[in-house]
Amino acid sequence: MERLWTENLRDIEPYVPGEQSGEQDIIKLNANENPYPPSPKAQEAIRNFDTQALRFYPNANATSLKQAIADYYHVGIKNVFLGNGSDDVIAVAFQALFNSDLPIVFPDLTYSFYPVWCALFNIPYKNYPVGDDFRINAEDYREKNGGVIIPNPNAPTSLGEGRAFVEKLMDYNRDSVVIIDEAYVDFGGESSVELTKKYENLLVTGTFSKSRSLAGLRIGFAIGSEKLISVLEAVKNSYNSYTVDAVSIEAGRASILDDAYFKQTCNKIIRTRERVTAQMRELGFTVLDSQTNFIFATRDGMSMKDMFEYLKTKKIYIRYFSVPRIDNYVRITIGTDREMDVFLENVREYVK
Ligand SMILES: *Cc1c(COP(=O)(O)O)cnc(C)c1O
Repeated sequence: MERLWTENLRDIEPYVPGEQSGEQDIIKLNANENPYPPSPKAQEAIRNFDTQALRFYPNANATSLKQAIADYYHVGIKNVFLGNGSDDVIAVAFQALFNSDLPIVFPDLTYSFYPVWCALFNIPYKNYPVGDDFRINAEDYREKNGGVIIPNPNAPTSLGEGRAFVEKLMDYNRDSVVIIDEAYVDFGGESSVELTKKYENLLVTGTFSKSRSLAGLRIGFAIGSEKLISVLEAVKNSYNSYTVDAVSIEAGRASILDDAYFKQTCNKIIRTRERVTAQMRELGFTVLDSQTNFIFATRDGMSMKDMFEYLKTKKIYIRYFSVPRIDNYVRITIGTDREMDVFLENVREYVK
């Protein structure tokens, strides 16, 4: 018989990230990681890091990194919150900002971590289905709610919405906190950071994991009004004051300061994305107009699950979701030009 204490254990369905294979020669297009190395300046900051200093706690406020981010986005240091990846930032935001009895709302097709946090923190939620074109309808978000979270551009659809959409959302939600998750904005999306000066209830989150090639360091941030940021800080400081480690503070700062390299790698990925999109369409695929570092694609009369499995046997990893409405789509992270040529060659072979 099970002992009674087992009844008191948390039973929860966790988020499942893209596979991390230990294999060396695979082409990894399944976790939206950046195929290019981090800024040489960030690499140098890590090489020059004084390891003796690791015996001290990091600066609890990560002030130097915060200031660099504040300067970059033309906001004050009190408008910036930092965390251990944007997953950490968003988890803190859910706990700090979503305390209504009303459900928080987000699209049905979106980042699959949101419902997991709702379960973990006992936050009720409601989904509004995206349209048949996978677009989010701002009008759905007029209904009274306990908060709103939307990735812009959205994942896994890759579609972005413009400023008018966010303005509408803010207009309809004067009594709710609205979070815009901008994990992919640097690949051609329209940022809402500027709007945080106009709307005190708007929080914009960002990450160094995708456009800055630093997924392994775990740096995420949020930008918003001093009111929202101070609440995030209070919650963070109630369970772990040292979320950003000393190495990440230095390397993250160096990355922000190296804007030329950042723009160059983002543009390279955008160019490769446009080329791959065109070639996939030539092969008969439907590919959504991506504003991210991945594409979302399907092909009439062909099983995307089978193609996903086939590519795996060729050591090419892409992402397949067994989720209603998108269970015949695949999500493909944009790699280097060489990686994408091998990918396209194998897809061409499979289509034949
Ligand atoms: C990748 C991703 C994140 C989290 O990234 P971190 O590595 O935790 O910074 C957040 N939201 C979306 C939509 C993402 O795709």
